Amino acid sequence: MAETSVFEQQRREKPRKGIARLIQIAGTKSVLLFVAGFLSVIAVAAQMTPFITIYLMVRELLENIGNVQGIDIDYAKRLGWITIAGIGAFGLLTYAAMMLSHIAAYNILFEIRTALAAKLARLPLGYFNRRSSGSIKKVLSEDVERIELFAAHHITDVVQAITLPLLSFIFLFVTDWRLALGALLPIPLAFVLQASMYGESGKALYAGWQKKLESMNGTIVEYVRGMPVVKIFNQTVSAFKRFADDVYAYRDFTLQWCASTRSPFSGFLTLLSSSALFVLPIGIFLVRDTSGSVYVQLVSTVFLFLFIGLGVAVPLYKLMAMSSLMAQNTTGLALIDEILDEPEMPDTPSPKRMDGRDIEFRGVSFSYEEKTVLHDVSFTVPQGSVTALVGPSGGGKTTIANLIGRFWDPDSGSIHIGGADIRDIPVKGLNDAVAGVFQDVSLFFDTIEANIRMGNDSAPFEAVVSAAEAARIHDFIETLPRGYATLIGEGGTYLSGGEQQRISIARAILKDAPIVILDEATAYADPENEARIQEALAVVLRGKTVVIIAHRLYTITDVDQILVIDRGRVAESGTHQALLNRAEGGLYRRMWEVHAAARNWNIDIEGGVPA
Ligand code: ADP
Ligand code: MG
Repeated sequence: MAETSVFEQQRREKPRKGIARLIQIAGTKSVLLFVAGFLSVIAVAAQMTPFITIYLMVRELLENIGNVQGIDIDYAKRLGWITIAGIGAFGLLTYAAMMLSHIAAYNILFEIRTALAAKLARLPLGYFNRRSSGSIKKVLSEDVERIELFAAHHITDVVQAITLPLLSFIFLFVTDWRLALGALLPIPLAFVLQASMYGESGKALYAGWQKKLESMNGTIVEYVRGMPVVKIFNQTVSAFKRFADDVYAYRDFTLQWCASTRSPFSGFLTLLSSSALFVLPIGIFLVRDTSGSVYVQLVSTVFLFLFIGLGVAVPLYKLMAMSSLMAQNTTGLALIDEILDEPEMPDTPSPKRMDGRDIEFRGVSFSYEEKTVLHDVSFTVPQGSVTALVGPSGGGKTTIANLIGRFWDPDSGSIHIGGADIRDIPVKGLNDAVAGVFQDVSLFFDTIEANIRMGNDSAPFEAVVSAAEAARIHDFIETLPRGYATLIGEGGTYLSGGEQQRISIARAILKDAPIVILDEATAYADPENEARIQEALAVVLRGKTVVIIAHRLYTITDVDQILVIDRGRVAESGTHQALLNRAEGGLYRRMWEVHAAARNWNIDIEGGVPA
């Protein structure tokens, strides 16, 4: 069994939520992100060079008013070059920081996705029973993707948004504390205003907005998914009305929310960029009675403050915008952790080896959630023999077949292969030993060849072809434009049920495992194909231990053992003849009679209905 990922270990050792969890995840790439953050701080410092060079230039100009020789051109040139160098350094450092943070982010995404994939592989199949593949896909694609925003952008953004103003403030206070106070005064004012906007009522509004959004999304999905039904029942208008109502409700709510925050928000933005409003009067007041070098110094400092005051507003604004993005960052995270926290299929503490390939059920009971579907089921399938499970639909045949593959563990009793409890057989060993054609065929969004191979890369292509031939699907594959390289649409959309089933038969044949389980493997086949597939299977399965579930009884008349499964119990067992000859006329006999009658009726029709 694969090792648990670092992300799961974090869950076990220090479970965190929200942003703390994001930081914990980002911590797996802390070196890269730290360097990225460090570079972005230097980048920010470099970004401030123009402010300082302009300030020096202004001072140079003011100092030389009335000077015959004019300003020092070399000095001015040097300032120009320093400015260019500063901006260049800013660009390069930002680029490097972004590169590093993206490398970190996409590696994190990669690792989380592989961790989730590995986790899913360790979960009992019962889990997938409860959850739709669509919702799992959403977590793996969209919710994981959101972490990119945080790791690649927000960490460096936050670092910058904090250091740039901080550096500026320190610089300003060192330069002139009186002007610095003036320049900074609007910032606390702006944040007080913002807090009033995003306070308790703001939170309630945000929650309301989220609810409206969810309800709209829900209706949209329902609307689109229900389209066929809607059309058939001519419900277009009423379905559309519900859809439209939700969209309107969302629009109205959002507009109203925007309207209510319009004034405080514009106030906030205005205040953030209004340091000039305070710096200028203070500057004029200070400059009032000065002259000479003090005057020059003060006036150029006022200019410096005007520039920097504007520069500080941008990162502060970013910081504020980020606080609402953080909520988005963390929504998907909880869903990721939910999967990571799922209890896994318990692995064996004392692995055992299979000695032979016979299958034995010993008093197995099993229930899906509440409902008990198998009661004390016991039987043996000797190595190299064929056992058929038959019986009314819903009796528990598929459940028995799936338990052999350890899709779930029984509630009580045990299942043995070659004498070993399958819970003690390492998962890989069990998977190698059992091949199955299951009732719900699952094909992957991949080529036909890859779907038959299922990871078996060592088999020569000829083996793939002969498996397909045996499964009677080769001729069909040849008719496809790209043959074995044809991509199968998601969920096997472009293949009929029978074709999908035959691909999955080819898959099982190629796997060449000693135990084969066929759950209504030819259910979709027409009688002619069914006969041909059965013939081919008979050859391929010779010598293997086989459990076959069939609802067409005539296909299993010569198997070694038939188990009649009824309401979760083994009702009867024996060979076809023995079951038919049962004195009291059991379930099998009745089934056979119904079956034979239906078949004869079929043949009659084929032979021509009497006029
Ligand atoms: P069969 O293959 O003989 O038709 P199954 O093994 O598929 O019977 O089903 C046995 C019983 O278990 C049925 O009552 C069915 O409704 C129930 N069942 C089957 N699969 C599930 C499942 N995944 N979750 C819950 N109940 C199930
Ligand atoms: Mg079934």
